[in-house]
Amino acid sequence: MAERLLIKALHGGKNTKIITLNGKKMKKMPSTLERLPGLKILDLQNNLIPKVCPEISSLTQLTALNLGNNLLEEVPEEMKYLTTLKKLHLFGNKICRFAPGACDGLQNLILLNLNKNQLTWLPQEVSRLKRLKYLSINHNQLASIPRELCFLGNLSELQLNYNNLICIPREIGLLKKLQKLFLVRNDIETLPEEICELKKLRILDIAGNLIQIFPSGFQNLKLREFYSEGNPLFLKQPIIAAYKEDDVWSLQEITLRFIMHQLAEENPLLMHVLEWYPEVRNKISQEKICAVCEKPFLTPWLECVEFVPPPKSWKISRNLQLVPLRTFTCCHKCFIHRGRNLFAIAQA
Ligand SMILES: [Zn+2]
Repeated sequence: MAERLLIKALHGGKNTKIITLNGKKMKKMPSTLERLPGLKILDLQNNLIPKVCPEISSLTQLTALNLGNNLLEEVPEEMKYLTTLKKLHLFGNKICRFAPGACDGLQNLILLNLNKNQLTWLPQEVSRLKRLKYLSINHNQLASIPRELCFLGNLSELQLNYNNLICIPREIGLLKKLQKLFLVRNDIETLPEEICELKKLRILDIAGNLIQIFPSGFQNLKLREFYSEGNPLFLKQPIIAAYKEDDVWSLQEITLRFIMHQLAEENPLLMHVLEWYPEVRNKISQEKICAVCEKPFLTPWLECVEFVPPPKSWKISRNLQLVPLRTFTCCHKCFIHRGRNLFAIAQA
């Protein structure tokens, strides 16, 4: 059956644009592919193919390749020849690695589907897929993602559901075009502050993780849909922490607070002098803002949680009545004068 379809395709020669050999129990790719240089779409899903044949390098016009549900063990090196490829489906294989160089030629790839494989890590080379818009790696065993993934400036949708991720890199903030982020069923404990920089993000799904609290500024995201069920989110109830009532600061903290207050008032002398002290500028760049007095400081007096209502424009899961945000207070006096929605986080 497969042979008959292939013979027909071969008659077409250069004019054959599409070949579909879906579910034909094929154990290898047909090497006769090299006689079809005009091929644009090659669909070989649901077969028993363990390897890609070298002849694939002659398909210089191929835009879509579907090798889903086969027996591949790696993202094949031969992919590097497919410089015109836009869509690559490799779901449902046994892929546990990228062959060296596999990403080198895929500079036009827009969609990559690696769902249901056995990947535990991704190579830094994924950053070479410069045009990639849709990346889907659901149902794998990824323990981390490389920061280089965040250099894919065109990425609009990232699906990492059902993996073993414990965190996502701070560089996530670089994905300026990201609109949809799916992180369902991982082991993520905290989201980096930089997630608040994703101005285009509209759908965020973090269901089934270990998140208790969100970074401050999270409530300003312009989300349309936000799903957070199955997380041990802080609930609004007084959390009493043991704390010291007297404020004893290091000399460094006192000095830096003084400098930061002066800078906030645009003290010209200090602004000028600071140009000569990069290490002080570096310190100051890590400043936090007190949730009560809104003044800057470096060493928090107490870590707190503030509960805010989710924005009305968000479609949310039912478990989320109030969004718990990580905030800080700068001193005992501010903590005493905190609002009704602010609580200290008890240290276990
Ligand atoms: Zn304060």
